[in-house]
Amino acid sequence: MSIAIYAGSFDPITNGHVDIVMRANQVFEHIVVLVMQHSQKTGWLSLEQRVALVQETFSDHPSITVETASGLLAQYAQKRGIQTLIRGLRAVSDFDYEAQMALANRDICPGLDTVFFMTSKEYAYLSSSVVREMVQHQASVAHLVPAPVQGMIEL
Ligand code: ADP
Repeated sequence: MSIAIYAGSFDPITNGHVDIVMRANQVFEHIVVLVMQHSQKTGWLSLEQRVALVQETFSDHPSITVETASGLLAQYAQKRGIQTLIRGLRAVSDFDYEAQMALANRDICPGLDTVFFMTSKEYAYLSSSVVREMVQHQASVAHLVPAPVQGMIEL
């Protein structure tokens, strides 16, 4: 079975992430959405909250499962015996960082490849930080996040 890891902070998961996962699942039979502990980024939601929201978002999709990890993604992939990472690309500004990460991951774990999916144009500007900023200023994000995230915001 073809399997790939889509790792990120998902703080919170957005419709941009969902779009990448669903499209990647057309290419790979199984997607592991890997919610990472924050390393440098200052967090908004706790790891438990982020995982719960991702789990709820994909609860109707048995071919998409959720796991968590801290430490190096490449080491986690190696431990799980998974050789493909999925990442999303929005603008040229994502490219430098993503290229660096893809090369570093291959350096740590030879044979580990990164497959990039280009954002859908309606999500090209969307990031978790845009959502966090909008929520902080009471702007509606209902069109930008999956229902479980919207539900949490409305609480
Ligand atoms: P990280 O902290 O690892 O960057 P994120 O949760 O911010 O984690 O993002 C995970 C992945 O999803 C990254 O590859 C990022 O480029 C991609 N991504 C985020 N938002 C979008 C979007 N709107 N469209 C396409 N890809 C996206």
